Amino acid sequence: MEQLSTVVNINKLKHSNNSLKHESEGYINIIFSGNKTSESHRTILKTELIKENDYIHFDINVQFIFDSECSRCLNIEQINKKAKFNKKLSFHSLSDYEIDFYSENIDLLPIISEIIIKKMNFTYLCKKDCKGLCSLCGKNQNDYTCNHQEKNIKESPFSSLSELDL
Ligand SMILES: [Zn+2]
Ligand SMILES: [Zn+2]
Repeated sequence: MEQLSTVVNINKLKHSNNSLKHESEGYINIIFSGNKTSESHRTILKTELIKENDYIHFDINVQFIFDSECSRCLNIEQINKKAKFNKKLSFHSLSDYEIDFYSENIDLLPIISEIIIKKMNFTYLCKKDCKGLCSLCGKNQNDYTCNHQEKNIKESPFSSLSELDL
C-alpha cells in the first residue's frame, strides 16, 4: 500500500479554477495516546478546495481505521471512523495549519492529523466495565477470574505495612 498523498498543487486554484479536487488512498502514520493508524490500514481521503475571495473553503472527508489499546486490559481493537472538516479559512489563518497559500504545493497533513486525532479517545476502554488485568499475574480478568489475590497479598513483603496503625 502506498502512503496517503496529502500534498495538493494549488496553482490551478490560484490562477484559473475556483475549485480543486484531490482524492487519495493509502496509509498514514498517526500515534496518539493508546491509538495508532498503521501501514496495514487504508485511509481514504476526498477533498475539495473552493476559492472564495480571501478565503479557501476546505471540504475534507476522511475514512480511516486505527487500533485502540484498552487502557485497562491492553486488548487491541480495530476502529473504523469517518470524519469531516468543513471550514472556510482566510489566507491569513491558514498558517494555523502550517499552510502557505503562496507556495505551489500545500500539505493537508496537519488538518488530516487533527481530524483523525479528534476521533481517538485519550483513554480508551474496550467496554465500560472492563475488569482489566490482574495486578499480581497479569491475566485478563474479563476472560478469567483469579482467586489467588488474597493469599498473595498476605505473602507480599509489604503486607506488614497494612498491619501498621498509621
Ligand atoms: Zn479492556
Ligand atoms: Zn492473577
